[in-house]
Amino acid sequence: MVILKNAQEIQAVSEACKLSNAALWSVESYMQPGVTTKEIDHVLHKFIVQAGGKPSFLGLYGFPGSACISLNSEVIHGIPSPKVKLKEGDIVKVDVGAFYNGFHGDNAWTFQVGKVDPATVRLLKETQECLRLGIEQAKPGNRIGDISHAVQSHAESFGYGVVREFVGHGVGRKVHEDPEVPNFGKPGRGVRLVPGMILAIEPMINLSGAGVKQLADGWTIVTQSGSNSAHFEHTVVITEDGAKILTVK
Ligand code: MG
Repeated sequence: MVILKNAQEIQAVSEACKLSNAALWSVESYMQPGVTTKEIDHVLHKFIVQAGGKPSFLGLYGFPGSACISLNSEVIHGIPSPKVKLKEGDIVKVDVGAFYNGFHGDNAWTFQVGKVDPATVRLLKETQECLRLGIEQAKPGNRIGDISHAVQSHAESFGYGVVREFVGHGVGRKVHEDPEVPNFGKPGRGVRLVPGMILAIEPMINLSGAGVKQLADGWTIVTQSGSNSAHFEHTVVITEDGAKILTVK
């Protein structure tokens, strides 16, 4: 069931989203060789808790970290580890949500460590463009499928693989609410978009092949091909005038 939000609830989600976004960007300067993913997780945790929030993903379905931190061919759900050190040329997907005053915010960004190879830099640029195009379709009268199709068609025009197994979602009192927001689909299909809907739109795009698999840790999702994968996410609210991004400064 899709839970629409009133003005007061939208304001509350917006505050949680601002905190999520501030936390995300607080780790930008840590994207350096030698920094461990556990250190990044610790910074995110401290940032959110000191602001009076709680990391949305800590303990969610049993997840052990405060954020999901996934490197290179890891798509999502990477577990922060003191053993995993960033190195030159890595890409680092940080997916972090904050629970604040009863509501969640959710966002993700793919950071670069030093100089990243050109094909991967292009993947990041076009995955951001997928997100922008998806958000552009998030307006009253359209359907979820319009968002999905915009993301898929842009990604596939470059020969990239669109991850099917994991999707965007509604956001509110729970971090994962209805409806699902797939990154693939047909225009004009699915749930109709109306003002007051809050959605996390989050393309997960692989350089090569759409297939993914789960590692033996029970969490980390990696590309089957071993190619790099990009992930960008914003939480948006549907308004009469279209989507408004909430995960901003
Ligand atoms: Mg999400």
